Amino acid sequence: MSNTVDVLAIAAHRDDVEQTCGGTLLVQKALGWKTGILDLTRGEAGTRGTAVERAAEADAAAKILGVSHREALDLPDGNVQNTLENRLKVAAVLRRLRPRVVILPYWQGRHPDHYTTATLGYEACFAAGLTKLDLPAENGAPHRPYKILYASLYADVRPTFVVDITPHVETRLQALLAYRSQYGEQSAGAGLFVPEEDIRERMFSTARHYGLLAGVRYAEPFVQREVSLAVDLMQLPVQSL
Ligand SMILES: [Zn+2]
Repeated sequence: MSNTVDVLAIAAHRDDVEQTCGGTLLVQKALGWKTGILDLTRGEAGTRGTAVERAAEADAAAKILGVSHREALDLPDGNVQNTLENRLKVAAVLRRLRPRVVILPYWQGRHPDHYTTATLGYEACFAAGLTKLDLPAENGAPHRPYKILYASLYADVRPTFVVDITPHVETRLQALLAYRSQYGEQSAGAGLFVPEEDIRERMFSTARHYGLLAGVRYAEPFVQREVSLAVDLMQLPVQSL
């Protein structure tokens, strides 16, 4: 079972995880959990960089984030669809990696690939637990993640909770900057892309905003559909006033 992970982040595009929950993966890794990333597409439709370049960048970012596993499926970039075929592809990965926690993108947003990944990922988590799913046995026994969380940084919604990433904020930035083809100073696609100092300022100010909501320095936002469960009111974090 050495190739399983505890926490799996699923995203449409390479660098989505770095943009939305890279700090949280660093936190989980530091706590001793095994983390992984599943990218659904390979970035062939991007304005800058080839799929091969983006694969090398994704590998470099994965090393910086300390994930024990990263892979990309072959769904078409810019046309992620919630089909049975795609649900089976994701379910096969879930059965093999057997995560307890799955992080998905938030279910509303500007980019159709992002919100489609939320639904596709959720339904794949459900399907992966079905005994009579049309998947070969070598993909592993049925498995359903215990917890599904939505990384909501791209969406203008109030998070259910935030994760304090303060000790890891610089490393998180380095993981993002591994995508040189996207963020370097280049003329192709100028206007769409911003230079490195802007990336830094944007990332830090966003993380600071979410940190302030919970009285910490830097944080990443998440939404969960379930209510939270309190065991002891005396231990509830985040000061009210
Ligand atoms: Zn994206």
